Amino acid sequence: MSEIFKSFGYNPNEQTLKSFEKYYEILTFYNAKFNITAITEKNEVYLKHFIDSLLGEKYIYGEFIDIGSGGGFPAIPLKIIKPELKATLVDATGKKCEFLKEVVKELGLKDIKIINGRAEELAHDKTFREKFDCVTARAVAALPVLSEYCLPFIKTGGKFIAYKSNNVNEIKDAENAIKILGGKTEKVEEFDLADNKRTLIVIKKEKTTPSEYPRANSKIRKKPL
Ligand code: SAH
Repeated sequence: MSEIFKSFGYNPNEQTLKSFEKYYEILTFYNAKFNITAITEKNEVYLKHFIDSLLGEKYIYGEFIDIGSGGGFPAIPLKIIKPELKATLVDATGKKCEFLKEVVKELGLKDIKIINGRAEELAHDKTFREKFDCVTARAVAALPVLSEYCLPFIKTGGKFIAYKSNNVNEIKDAENAIKILGGKTEKVEEFDLADNKRTLIVIKKEKTTPSEYPRANSKIRKKPL
């Protein structure tokens, strides 16, 4: 499968390719039990899950937290290609976390933590609040809601990388939320992934997030900032 990586400018070594191969096997083996993905065909998984997860690779450094990791996207592919990253993966669903622990064990990944919890609660815990260089999230919520889940985790100067399909309205809708939470949209980058348009929104944290955020989930959802 090295061709698919090369066509997107990656040149993974044997070991890295083996890790992706093993991840693919685990994903398809456990999929029925853990309900991870609707996509199972090999080329599609590589493109729509693995390559897609890597699109933000150049923005992510140091210690990052992935909110709503599900089957591990984008965090696990990022960790495979950049093993020096320190990763924390958060998911509200216990079963998803069980799966992720299996992946970590089977792939022998180091410096990676799996936390079963809700972002809006963990973000008030001082072990996590404003402790990370970067935060990532893919397919978790619309940007105004997602910003409230994610921005509180980042240190001032750090980055929030939101993986999106179509961004245009969401960015406008999220302007107010991003500002209140201490962020500023720095870059919007578009990619063509076969027939899919993918968008990365890079938000820089410029100021501390006021302590009342994130609010309770019902409030976040009913009245996005
Ligand atoms: N990021 C993965 C999974 C997307 S599905 C991917 O791109 O394939 C969304 C996941 O987010 C689910 O696993 C769900 O349990 C989790 N989730 C949704 N809201 C959450 C919250 N507030 N805190 C933590 N996890 C959440």
